[in-house]
Order: sequence, then structure tokens, then C-alpha cells
Amino acid sequence: MAPFAREVFGHASGSHRQARAARQALEEARDQVAALVGAAPGEIVFTSGGTEADNLAVFGVASAAARAREGSAAVLVASAIEHEAVLGPCRVAAARLAGVDHVRAGVDAAGVIDLDRLAELLDPDVALVSVMLANNEVGTVQPLTAVVPLVRALAPAAVVHTDAVQAAPWLELATAAAGADLVSISAHKLGGPKGAGALVVRGDTVLDPILVGGGQERDRRGGTHDVAGAVGLAAALAVSAAEREEESLRVAALRDRLADGIVAAVPSVTEAADRKHVLPGHCHLCFEGVDRQELVLLLDEAGVCVSGGAACASGALEASHVLCAMGVPANVANGAIRFSLGYTSSAADVERALAVVPEAVARLRA
Ligand code: PLP
Repeated sequence: MAPFAREVFGHASGSHRQARAARQALEEARDQVAALVGAAPGEIVFTSGGTEADNLAVFGVASAAARAREGSAAVLVASAIEHEAVLGPCRVAAARLAGVDHVRAGVDAAGVIDLDRLAELLDPDVALVSVMLANNEVGTVQPLTAVVPLVRALAPAAVVHTDAVQAAPWLELATAAAGADLVSISAHKLGGPKGAGALVVRGDTVLDPILVGGGQERDRRGGTHDVAGAVGLAAALAVSAAEREEESLRVAALRDRLADGIVAAVPSVTEAADRKHVLPGHCHLCFEGVDRQELVLLLDEAGVCVSGGAACASGALEASHVLCAMGVPANVANGAIRFSLGYTSSAADVERALAVVPEAVARLRA
């Protein structure tokens, strides 16, 4: 990324030598991202990250559908465990656009979308179905390959969007997200830079831009390109694709050691989701009778960084809509924390966590 933040500083839309060099780097990054996610280069829209990609998917489809349907019904269906970057735009689009409505599709107790309940919501009025490839809180992988044919059969006018932000380091998107019309990714979940991402817009999927300006990205996203960010996204995808198989096994083994060790050492702790449906790096545990905010602070003091829910800008820990949708009782959800493991995680980290978690939980319970 460094040369594109320094020496090659041209505006990728210009026509002088510096601009051409920047454009060449941008287009090489686009080719690389396209090949790694199983799309054509023209189907990649670079964005400022996962939030913008999700917003473009939801607002873009909702706006185009509202225009085409001239006020008659356009329903946005999203799974109840989507990230706020999907649920928020669904709510706002329904409030702002005539005829647009938003419904949530439930999940089962394992945190996996209930296909029968989804089928009941599908009809020709549905304009968008958004089901994430894997959940960010509990890590459950969703059966997208079963969702897509269901949508095609029962809601033929619907665009299928998948938020693959969390899944991208672990699943090969070229196959796992192959059926979706729109796919969101974010570089920082792959070890790339923060503030860079992309939306894959397949074939002739119709969506209105939300950023209108200089006509960049084939009029789908105006604004001067972040060339270094695009280069960083492509490099991060390439590295994670090359190391995926090995890293998945290594990280899953560390996660299993952590989860098994804590479950064996601490009474009244449950895993939020069944590990067979969960990404390798997720270890989400519910400590009954413990306040998660207090546990996060205590573990932080002991040098173990964990998350007590989805992070939001305020840093506040809000009640988890994901655990709520899974039917986890409030007293159990209140003690839910996530240990996230990734390519920097080591066996020593796991041993450190195993050494401090039982004591921290016992202290809080006492
Ligand atoms: N979608 C999911 C599933 C996420 O986990 C995140 C970030 O945590 C986002 C979207 C937002 O992505 P970004 O942080 O790149 O805006």
C-alpha cells in the first residue's frame, strides 16, 4: 500500500502519467479482488468498508425497486441476526421510501436461519433478501446455498444480498457466495486496512447509487478512489486465500482448546452456538450470573481482550439482538462474551486466557 499513499499519488480518474499509474494499480487490485471472490472485474464496486457496502446494497436496491414499482409494495427481508449495517438501512429505507417495507426472518436456537419461516415471507413483492454468510457475534455460518434457490422460486423479483464481511477470511467466497447477486466484504476483517471494502454487484443487478458525484465505479459509487485501500484489500484477500486452509485448522484447534478448557474449568457456562456451524475463530460463551461488562473489564486488566457484544461507536454494550433472536434468556445473554481468534493468535494466548478466565468469573460470582 505504501507507494500508493506516497509516490503514486495521482487521482485514478485523471489522464496524466501519475493518474494513469494510480489507475493501473486500482485496476490490478480490482482484477485480483474479482478473481478471489469469483466475480468479473466490472462487478467489483470499491467502497469505504463493509458498512458502506451493506448500505449500498440495501438502499441501492430499495431505491431502485421503489422507483420501478411507483409506490406499490417492495419488501426488504433480512435475517434477524444481520449486522446493524444491514438492519439499520432496512429500517431507514422503510421509513423514507413509499411502498417499502421491512421484515425480519427468524433463526433457530442454533443461530441458523429457519428456511421454513423464510419461505413464508417470500412472495413476488419481495425486492431484497439479505442473509449474511456468517454471523459476527456467534460466528454461525448460514446456509446461503439453500437460501438462493428458495428466493428464486418464491420471490423471483428479489435481489439476494449476502454480508460476507465476517466469513471472508475463512470461507472461499467464489463458491460459498456464488449464488448471491450482491456480496459485501471489508478489508480489515482480513488483516487489511480499515476503511476499505467492496460490494460485488453481479451481472445486471439493478441498484441506485447512494454516493453520487464524479461517476466513478461505473456510476455506482462516486468519489475519488482510495487506491492504497483497494491495493490493501486485494493483498489481504490474496494472503488469506493462500493461507486459509492451514490457518482454519490451526485457529479452530486453538479455539477448541480454549472453549473446552473454559467449559471444563468453569461451572454454568454454555456455548452460544453449536461449533459445527461456527467459523474457526469464534468462541462465544455465556457465563450465567455474570455481568459481561464487568467480565470484559476484569479480563482486560489481566491482559485478555474480549468483546462483550457487537462494538458500536459509543463503545457501549447493548443487548444482543442476535442472542435475543436465538431465544437465549436475558440472564444468560447478559453474561455472554466473545473471544475472537485469528491469524495473530497463538497457543500462549490461549493458555493465558485459560489461566485468568476461571478466576475472573469466580471473583464476579462471589
Ligand atoms: N458486517 C459485519 C458482519 C461485520 O462484522 C462488520 C464489522 O464488524 C460490518 C458489516 C461493518 O464493516 P466495516 O467495519 O468495514 O464498516
